[in-house]
Amino acid sequence: MTHSATTDKRNQYHKTRMERKKAQIDASIARAQDEKGVLLVITGNGKGKSTSAFGMVARALGHGLNVGVCQFIKSRTDTGEEAFFSAHPNCEWHVLGDGFTWDTQNREQDIRTSRKGWEVAMGMLTNPRYDLVVLDELTYLLSYDYLDQDTVLDALLARPENQHLVVTGRSALAELRDIADTVSEIRDEKHAYTAGIKAQKGVDY
Ligand code: ATP
Ligand code: MG
Repeated sequence: MTHSATTDKRNQYHKTRMERKKAQIDASIARAQDEKGVLLVITGNGKGKSTSAFGMVARALGHGLNVGVCQFIKSRTDTGEEAFFSAHPNCEWHVLGDGFTWDTQNREQDIRTSRKGWEVAMGMLTNPRYDLVVLDELTYLLSYDYLDQDTVLDALLARPENQHLVVTGRSALAELRDIADTVSEIRDEKHAYTAGIKAQKGVDY
């Protein structure tokens, strides 16, 4: 077979495959018709949980939607994401933590802080004005038992029907994964930090 005959054959094969693929994709798009608020859980040990959530914040704001963000655990208020998004008129941003549990070293205080933060989150979860809500690092409040699991899960499920909700943090409980519509587990293959590179502005905060 000449070179060009081989190429023609490959091109024809590719076209047939793509036609078949397009038919499958069109059929699956036609099946996915439901319109409703989705609950997404972004978990795992790899980097990219919060930044994924903030990517969705950018998308939502780009469409003129109203967004609410609650950041639990962490207390730093000098992040690029906060500076950028809290200046947006449709974005409300709350930093509700006292710092990492290994810094506070005080369970009672962590619980009080978590409850106060949860009240702020509840204000969003009961208000249909918020089209997208991000509860960054909420998983720790459940895995450390700082908040009552049933109360939290019930509230996540009882939110307004069209409200999207993103929950991030490592070690998401099975019960939380169960009630979510989308769950992504971000795997840590390697991270610059373990090679001695400190957290970088614009990349890590
Ligand atoms: P990011 O906010 O960058 O998306 P994340 O939300 O997935 O990270 P967190 O558990 O919130 O991860 O970690 C916050 C900080 O720790 C960030 O500076 C992040 O880059 C860093 N980090 C995330 N994963 C790892 C890891 N596997 N090893 C070391 N540092 C990490
Ligand atoms: Mg994070």
